Amino acid sequence: MNENLQIRTYKKTGHIEVICGSMFSGKTEELIRRIRRAEIAKQRVKVFKPKIDNRYSEFSIVSHNEQSYPSEIIENADEIPEKCFDVEVIGIDEAQFFDNNLVDIIQMLADSGKRVLVAGLDQDYRAKPFEPMPQILAIAEYITKIHAVCVVCGAPANRTQRVTENKDRVLVGGENHYEARCRLHHIIKEKENE
Ligand SMILES: [Zn+2]
Repeated sequence: MNENLQIRTYKKTGHIEVICGSMFSGKTEELIRRIRRAEIAKQRVKVFKPKIDNRYSEFSIVSHNEQSYPSEIIENADEIPEKCFDVEVIGIDEAQFFDNNLVDIIQMLADSGKRVLVAGLDQDYRAKPFEPMPQILAIAEYITKIHAVCVVCGAPANRTQRVTENKDRVLVGGENHYEARCRLHHIIKEKENE
């Protein structure tokens, strides 16, 4: 077989890209930017978000600066493969709200030749790794860690401070309950570590 032809007939390689950081770091904005560029290149794209995230819009992913992109709400990551037969680029926002089975699902999607973009919080408000993001970071080909600005000192912030009293790990629709903070100004109250 002609060598060039052989190269061209190889199956396309997929991969996993992660965009992670604290709240207010612009993760969704960056996800939307990458999805739009793929779309401009006439690639077939699809974006998903977990049911738990109902802020701003039921049918789009929306960044804090109000850029938006149409998305489909799913309850479980199991639903992604069947909706993506003819899709080349898959975006997943708020990945920290999915179960750990998301890890196997995106691995399988990337194995089958798809580009998988995953955006999510890498730490919770106590600065603990937010599952399943640690596992996804380990298997990804590309990782982009982006930063917010600390509201106290203006340094790059990679942590999320909860400024209201509540011990639930997930406090949805609550941008007012959080601030971006640097390591120095992120305060973990004793009772939050119990
Ligand atoms: Zn600071």
